[in-house]
Amino acid sequence: MSEECSHNCESCGKDCGERTKESLLEKLHDGSHVKKVVGVVSGKGGVGKSLVTSLLAVMTQREGYQAAILDADITGPSIPQAFGLHTRAEGTESGLYPVDSETGIRVMSLNLLMEHETDPVVWRGPIIAGAVKQFWADVIWGDVDYMFIDMPPGTGDVPMTVFQSIPVDGLVIVASPQELVGMIVEKAVNMAGMMKIPVLALVENMSYVFCPDCGREIRVFGESRINDIAQKHSIQTTACLPIDPKLAAACDAGIIEHFNGNWLDSLLDIILKQ
Ligand code: ADP
Repeated sequence: MSEECSHNCESCGKDCGERTKESLLEKLHDGSHVKKVVGVVSGKGGVGKSLVTSLLAVMTQREGYQAAILDADITGPSIPQAFGLHTRAEGTESGLYPVDSETGIRVMSLNLLMEHETDPVVWRGPIIAGAVKQFWADVIWGDVDYMFIDMPPGTGDVPMTVFQSIPVDGLVIVASPQELVGMIVEKAVNMAGMMKIPVLALVENMSYVFCPDCGREIRVFGESRINDIAQKHSIQTTACLPIDPKLAAACDAGIIEHFNGNWLDSLLDIILKQ
């Protein structure tokens, strides 16, 4: 048993002699040491989960920490595109190596392993979950301060399996303004509660449009409900991201590392306190 043993095998990735049998956690590769794991979740695809994951990794790396992204959104992997990564990940008998971004963020994604990036992934849930587990167990991540996981969208079977397999320290929930009106955020909060993972922050993406002429923030979808929802679920940290064509263009051009903006600064503070 290690000296820092928390006696909670559910939240620890170490495979020591004291490990309880019921734990479903995958063992991290021997060549990896990951200090903190932050999962980024959303109720459905297309709400900006990958964008938020990318921005958080860029901001953390800029602070001088070693950041990594495990792209667990197997059927819609968009992380390599945002970072302009088109080389294939290499491997040896001992494991796979992540691909480094321009600023040194370590990335692993199914798109870095596919022969053709545009091939669709038509796998069933257990196979998808198996691939994510392999990204944790078979990738030689090296020393990582903060690993961000771009989770599979939704609150179903695949994200649940991922949570059971990887010791996630905290979650960031990303939602569109419409989702904050419905029950999707509540489902994500309840899933976190079931897995006993703290929700670190709630992000409303596409919250408003900034008018370049008058300087006003135009709430296209009406007044934001983020504060009410955060309060209801005791989520201390919130952030709102505008619809900004420059963000979409940066993702398309593979230069998300060049972004400027302080929208997520409050999240960075809470993540670095982890
Ligand atoms: P998800 O990971 O939830 O499926 P993405 O992060 O891939 O969603 O975002 C979907 C698309 O919308 C991408 O093309 C992305 O660049 C764009 N997008 C997301 N958020 C914004 C935003 N705030 N402003 C402009 N474009 C955005």
